[in-house]
Amino acid sequence: MSKRIAIIGAGISGLSCAYLLSEKNYNITVFAKDFSPNITSNRAAAFWFPYHIRNDKRGINWCRRSYAFYEQLAIDANTGISMKKLIKVLRKGVVEEEPVWVEFMPPGACKIIPQEELVPGVFKAYDVLVPLIETQLFLPYMQNILVEKDVVFKQKIISSFSELSSFDIIINCSALGARELCNDKTIIPVRGQVALVETDTSRPVYLDNEMPLYIVPRKDAMIVGGTYEENVFEEKTEPATIERILQTAYNVFPELKEREVIGSWAGLRPYRSEVRVEHEAGTNIIHNYGHGGSGFTLAFGCAEEVVHLTEKIN
Ligand SMILES: Cc1cc2nc3c(=O)[nH]c(=O)nc-3n(C[C@H](O)[C@H](O)[C@H](O)COP(=O)(O)OP(=O)(O)OC[C@H]3O[C@@H](n4cnc5c(N)ncnc54)[C@H](O)[C@@H]3O)c2cc1C
Repeated sequence: MSKRIAIIGAGISGLSCAYLLSEKNYNITVFAKDFSPNITSNRAAAFWFPYHIRNDKRGINWCRRSYAFYEQLAIDANTGISMKKLIKVLRKGVVEEEPVWVEFMPPGACKIIPQEELVPGVFKAYDVLVPLIETQLFLPYMQNILVEKDVVFKQKIISSFSELSSFDIIINCSALGARELCNDKTIIPVRGQVALVETDTSRPVYLDNEMPLYIVPRKDAMIVGGTYEENVFEEKTEPATIERILQTAYNVFPELKEREVIGSWAGLRPYRSEVRVEHEAGTNIIHNYGHGGSGFTLAFGCAEEVVHLTEKIN
């Protein structure tokens, strides 16, 4: 009989694990307090880019494996994934280690923009090809595919792993839920607020971490961000902050003023100084949480690791 696996969490971490494990002969149930569209994973921008992970060399493989996975899915428009041009700019006075993210890119996916094409104030810029994940399309797409693959979804808050004692293996993808479930207070919320502007999908993704400013032209909205607020637990936007984000964008791209502001949202990034992907010794629990601002960028690489750890328990 196939082994019974319980996955806690239906964000991108839980769904990517369910997806890769469903390719093996397992009997999988996903338990979650909330599902798309009411989870952090829906609040992501979400483009592939290493953020919060650059000091962790495990991230190189995780990021590259995820990139390859999304690249394959981008062939089918129904997935909500496309390969998109991203312009990453560095302003003067940039820290030396900044180009370290280039290591995380698949070879050939990134080129330096010639000096003569740079606008005033920009010291260096990169033209990068990255996966853009339309979360509003991709998360329901994944859930539907998983249901077709006989994965069962149950809405339930798990307060203790002992509630899942009938399962052979438990995969913990509860993100900020791990603060209570594992009593792990090293995972903290980092709030991100963004403005939503009438979209123009012909624009590239724009990323300037020093400003900070990012502009992500998705089909549902152009996401203009954003903030990075550590230890803020309230998942709500503040009008003055949204106005400030918009003004920053207008200063760089005055033409955006012509576009209607259609909303805003806030999400809590599940940040941990180190992503926890490990089998907890002496238990049947595999943890996969704490992906901070790179949950989509890391998801399928981390899920592959979860599959390896699962196979070792067998
Ligand atoms: C504004 C913003 C922009 C972002 N942009 C990007 C981007 O461009 N690229 C990128 O890669 N990342 C981005 N991120 C980060 C990304 O959103 C997160 O890293 C990712 O969504 C984390 O996914 P997750 O599945 O681990 O957690 P979540 O999406 O939070 O899912 C956790 C799941 O666990 C469930 N759960 C929790 N506790 C329990 C419990 N006790 N019992 C049962 N269920 C439980 C929840 O209900 C939920 O289903 C962004 C984040 C924000 C806020």
